[in-house]
Amino acid sequence: MEYADTILETIGHTPLVKINKLTRDLPCLVLAKYETFNPGNSVKDRMALQMIEDAEQSGLLKPGGTIIEGTSGNTGMGLALAAVVKGYKIVCVINDKQSKEKIDILRAVGSEVHICPTDVAPEDPRSYYSTARRLATEIPNSWYVNQYDNPSNSKAHYLTTGPEIWEQTSGKVTHFVVGVGTGGTISGVGSYLKSKNPDVKVWGVDTYGSVFKKYHETGIFDENEIYPYVTEGIGEDILPKNVNFDIIDGFTKVTDKDAAVYTRRLAREEGMFLGNSAGAAIKGVLQLTEHFTPDDVVVVLFHDHGSRYVGKVYNDDWMREQGFME
Ligand code: PMP
Repeated sequence: MEYADTILETIGHTPLVKINKLTRDLPCLVLAKYETFNPGNSVKDRMALQMIEDAEQSGLLKPGGTIIEGTSGNTGMGLALAAVVKGYKIVCVINDKQSKEKIDILRAVGSEVHICPTDVAPEDPRSYYSTARRLATEIPNSWYVNQYDNPSNSKAHYLTTGPEIWEQTSGKVTHFVVGVGTGGTISGVGSYLKSKNPDVKVWGVDTYGSVFKKYHETGIFDENEIYPYVTEGIGEDILPKNVNFDIIDGFTKVTDKDAAVYTRRLAREEGMFLGNSAGAAIKGVLQLTEHFTPDDVVVVLFHDHGSRYVGKVYNDDWMREQGFME
């Protein structure tokens, strides 16, 4: 018999799938690291498990404890799965920009969910960063995960996602392109790939309304770069410790409209039913065309599944309301 002892053992070892139609004008091979095959349907299962196991080992998370996190949904899902299997309670603090599906899904897997306003500064007591910190001081035997600054986040990708991509491409990967939120994925995968071959180029996909690109290019944290945007999961108004700017070769910014339109195109032209940041990621690859040659093998990572966005990018009325569709 061949079976996993718990659902947590099925995390990782996701497929690499060729993109065929959307990239037909590119000279190179483009492969998608397809993270929706994880049990929580996103890449975040990897880092959620790593953060919990490291906190268990260091004694920060104790038996019967409560896990608290500010999460856009996917990390919460990964944490919730591990909490269920390992017997912890979980509280997720989410901002009101996130899709209703993500909130319902978190509740479905036993998480308590607190919803906070999006358009307040991170230091505002109503923000989801501040609320998560406050709850961690109020709830006894609790542990605040802090995926932004928790080194186990990038470590998960250095230990699993990076080596998988290296092995699946037989070391032929030349470029890695990925959306950046906490920075865990780009930093962990990017530093692993560069440790194997320093010539691998690592590109981050950023949003309009986020600080990353300007900070990377100038070293300036420019508050004028911060404004509300629609794309979920990527871009930030803070500089998380998990973003290792030294291993990133550059950022490209993708508009909200392009991210939404390309998410839909992935579903209809490639049969890839994915979340909003996947559209941003593939559009990012297309924007980088001039950097690619025929021998290149470009790996783009798709973070999460389309089911969480049926009321948004996959809904025509929503697309029209946003002005993304005639
Ligand atoms: N896409 C989605 C849908 C996400 O939930 C996240 C995590 N915020 C990202 C991209 C960015 O990944 P990371 O946090 O590892 O930079």
